[in-house]
Amino acid sequence: MSSPLRVAIVGRPNVGKSTLVNRLAGRRTAIVEERAGVTRDAKAVEVEWAGRTFEVVDTGGWMPGGSALDEKVSRVSERTMDEADVVIFLVDGTVGVTEEDAKAAELLRRKSKPVRLIVNKIDDPKREHLIWDFMELGLGEPSPMSALHGNGAADLLDDLVAMLPPEDEEEEPESAADGGEIAVSIVGRPNVGKSTLFNRLTGAEHSIVHDMPGTTRDTIDTVVETSEGAIRFVDTAGMRRRSKVDDGTEYYSVVRALQAIDKADIAILVIDSAEGVTAQDQRLAERVDLAGCPVIVLLNKWEVASADDRERVTYQIADKLHFIGDSPVLQVSALTGKGVHRLYPALGSAIRAYETRIPTRQVNDVIRRAQQAQPAPHGARVLYALQGAAHPPTFTIFANRELPKTYVRYLERSLQEAFDLGATPLKLRVRKRD
Ligand code: GDP
Ligand code: GDP
Repeated sequence: MSSPLRVAIVGRPNVGKSTLVNRLAGRRTAIVEERAGVTRDAKAVEVEWAGRTFEVVDTGGWMPGGSALDEKVSRVSERTMDEADVVIFLVDGTVGVTEEDAKAAELLRRKSKPVRLIVNKIDDPKREHLIWDFMELGLGEPSPMSALHGNGAADLLDDLVAMLPPEDEEEEPESAADGGEIAVSIVGRPNVGKSTLFNRLTGAEHSIVHDMPGTTRDTIDTVVETSEGAIRFVDTAGMRRRSKVDDGTEYYSVVRALQAIDKADIAILVIDSAEGVTAQDQRLAERVDLAGCPVIVLLNKWEVASADDRERVTYQIADKLHFIGDSPVLQVSALTGKGVHRLYPALGSAIRAYETRIPTRQVNDVIRRAQQAQPAPHGARVLYALQGAAHPPTFTIFANRELPKTYVRYLERSLQEAFDLGATPLKLRVRKRD
């Protein structure tokens, strides 16, 4: 094993360094160490991408030529930087080039270290032109980033991985879900039957249920042993209360649902079959989709839905929730229990697909065959592809030029079929490489 690449993030206070560290670390990675001898200003996190590990260090505030007070911090930062293999110089696109940026850039140019200039707070792609001002720093072509929303993070990770020396293929597959249970959130509008479903799922004879404090204050998670392994239902506080304290306002339940989705690997979206898919259902589904979670749709209260209701809701799923694509849709009655038993196998296959990690060689085999069967138009060609991350499977495809959307979808389908990924939403990103 080679030692991990060390990446130091430097930049003025408030440009978004710690936000970027958190973004790169992802919600699954905890801070691994607080290095001895380095103040709390330097936090190292381990980041995994494309099966490789590297260490990202936030240098805290680094202000060359700042006041005496800043000097100590700056010395620590400088040491961190000197120990790093790569330096990310983070600047604030909404502020533009400041004097401090210019000073820092000058210092960085003098150190013979690879530097990536990243312009943060480009939340809207329409504002990407803001990056060009930073050319004057003389650190090469700047890249746009929104540490807050994540835009640009995957590109940056790809670039970092590309700087690592190549490693032998056939890495060992990750152990299931970092030793923890699979986290599932049950989401839906008020009154669709979430609590009833939850009680049914946890009341089953053979399940061993225990509660544990959730990941955030005021939340309770419930762990259930199932045929598919242990499943942790996230933030079940509201579902366990007999008389509901929450007033069921749309705002509150949506906020709570979104927080639960963030903590979950898989979302169960409950819909009232008799009422059909409402605008709020649609919004919730969009948010689940954005979170990259696989979704299982439960059409609840099926037993009281009329034939017309059933036909309508089935049509609406395809129409209004088309973006969740091939997600399994189950017709159930949480009240009577009918159909609920099919949920666990559905969860099981979604989990397996979600965790899939495919060796780079196999990914490239599939892409090569797909290209042979149907080449991309106008001389476009995929040069190389890799799975950057699991949860959900995220692929990066390097191509010699822009690929048409239909062709990207074709490649996506090819990967989905070759690796039997079912309903798990793949993420496919295309990057140009000469
Ligand atoms: P640091 O002092 O460099 O570590 O900066 P922080 O990470 O603490 O961020 C400073 C402020 O900028 C916080 O309020 C962040 O929420 C905000 N911020 C960070 N990244 C972004 C971004 O990409 N877009 C926007 N709009 N705000 C950001
Ligand atoms: P939540 O607000 O989403 O947690 O919804 P609840 O679980 O509290 O259910 C709201 C109402 O719908 C209650 O009166 C339940 O008895 C009822 N309900 C839940 N599931 C079903 C179902 O499958 N069929 C019928 N007919 N009623 C249900």
